[in-house]
Amino acid sequence: MAKATRQRGFEYFGVADHSKSAHYAGGLSVEQIAQQHREADRLNKRFGKDFRILKGIESDILADGSLDYDDDVLERFDFVVASIHGRFKLDRKAQTQRLLRAISDPHTTIIGHMTGRQLQRRPSYEIDVEKVLRACAKHDVVVEINAHPWRLDLDWRWHQAALEFGCMLSINPDAHSIPELDHMHWGVLMARKGGVSADRVLNAMTLAEITRYFRQKRCSLARAA
Ligand SMILES: [Zn+2]
Repeated sequence: MAKATRQRGFEYFGVADHSKSAHYAGGLSVEQIAQQHREADRLNKRFGKDFRILKGIESDILADGSLDYDDDVLERFDFVVASIHGRFKLDRKAQTQRLLRAISDPHTTIIGHMTGRQLQRRPSYEIDVEKVLRACAKHDVVVEINAHPWRLDLDWRWHQAALEFGCMLSINPDAHSIPELDHMHWGVLMARKGGVSADRVLNAMTLAEITRYFRQKRCSLARAA
């Protein structure tokens, strides 16, 4: 995947496998995370300065809004995408609270596919999108524009509001295979349709910039501890 990403002209590949709660989807155990990080370090040495694998995880947001790894595990990543993958039926208040708790967790870098909708398959779960976006801006949590054609979530109709509140966005392919890396294209089109400029997109940053961004986030994590 990293090589294919590099071939497509990107400067970095943010790997973000599913987390341990998602065993149905090959979620990583703590031991597998260590293994993956060793492999990333090995490949990064080989890639040299102009390409890098950034170590991430898509951590499940549990029903109470907590993330599904302990803090000492979450601290090993460059970035953490926090997403809801179950318990879609909570009422609007509880579902919103659940997301707000995940956003206020200092380990959370990005909120993945915020509303959970899948086009032509299922509607979004009930949340107060405005409240959630405002919380993301407040806690410096980036909002994903999921580029998978089934998702395209955050919906482009919310992009201007997200920008107004002060959010940064990140266009992520949700790729589970090499061909799916090219979903990026749809995400970029949606961001353009929503009027999002590159300076508000996390992964439009250069490798040096995004590395600095993640480092700063980790410093504030250390301060919070
Ligand atoms: Zn997901």
